[in-house]
Amino acid sequence: MPIIDYILPRNPVTQRRELHFIPTWVENFVGEHSYASLIADSGGELLPSDTDGKYIALVQKVGEQLAEHSLRKEFKYEFKIINSNVDNAWCLPGGKIAINLGLIKKMEAENNRFGLAAFSLEQKIAAVLSHEIIHAAARHTGRALEFRLFMMGIFKAVEIWVKYAFVTHPYEQKITQAKDKNSPLVAQLEREKNDKLQSISRLFNHASAWILRSLTLCNSRSHELESDKYGMSLMQKAMGTDAPQAAIWLQHFFHAHHPYPSGKWGRIWSFFSTHPTPQERLEENKKTWAELTKRS
Ligand SMILES: [Zn+2]
Repeated sequence: MPIIDYILPRNPVTQRRELHFIPTWVENFVGEHSYASLIADSGGELLPSDTDGKYIALVQKVGEQLAEHSLRKEFKYEFKIINSNVDNAWCLPGGKIAINLGLIKKMEAENNRFGLAAFSLEQKIAAVLSHEIIHAAARHTGRALEFRLFMMGIFKAVEIWVKYAFVTHPYEQKITQAKDKNSPLVAQLEREKNDKLQSISRLFNHASAWILRSLTLCNSRSHELESDKYGMSLMQKAMGTDAPQAAIWLQHFFHAHHPYPSGKWGRIWSFFSTHPTPQERLEENKKTWAELTKRS
């Protein structure tokens, strides 16, 4: 294997080269150990004996059908329903996925076809689950963490260099030149040096926290669009040529049920949001669908 594949291996989904120092076993470990508690915190798992227990088999069937076509076979994918009315679904590293009962029921009850073909509940659920599977398969959590650690390493290296070049080195030269090491001048220089080092630390802490927050926002928004795009390809492989259109329907659905403020406030809102707006995702999904139809 060429050395570049060790240093910057290709992402299993996007095929782009990237940093990769969190191994698969860590992804599996994190997913397995947080799945149950996150489900409990989000509303608890829906059980077959519950009133809406009939949805469990459907979610598992759709999930397994999609997982069979996922590029990461080393995960033990799991699909559970959470007893919550919030329109949400999530995925942990290692392919531990959950979808809220409220979202399933609302999608089922939605009669508006938004100008598209009619979709079965199975296809609507597939649009949600395929997006979540890609979060795991494309290592989104791992990548976010690796990127953060990498950036923190760079900030630290720059901080050390700035401190040495602009404070420690010049002050040490002055202190070495002083004849009497116990003189008040040397004590004064030491004090000044320490004050400056502390100011630089404070400055770097604030600046790096701010830059990291902005980069994390950009990162998570691009991961959402990536999950939509590759999720649609996965749906096509697992469920047939026309299935990916359900991802377009899904964004119409989110747009109708969770309208973003429009105009200037909408733009400001979306700027600080971790997710792109449903409108933005809808436009991107339409582009992906056009590409998929060209290919097939
Ligand atoms: Zn997502």
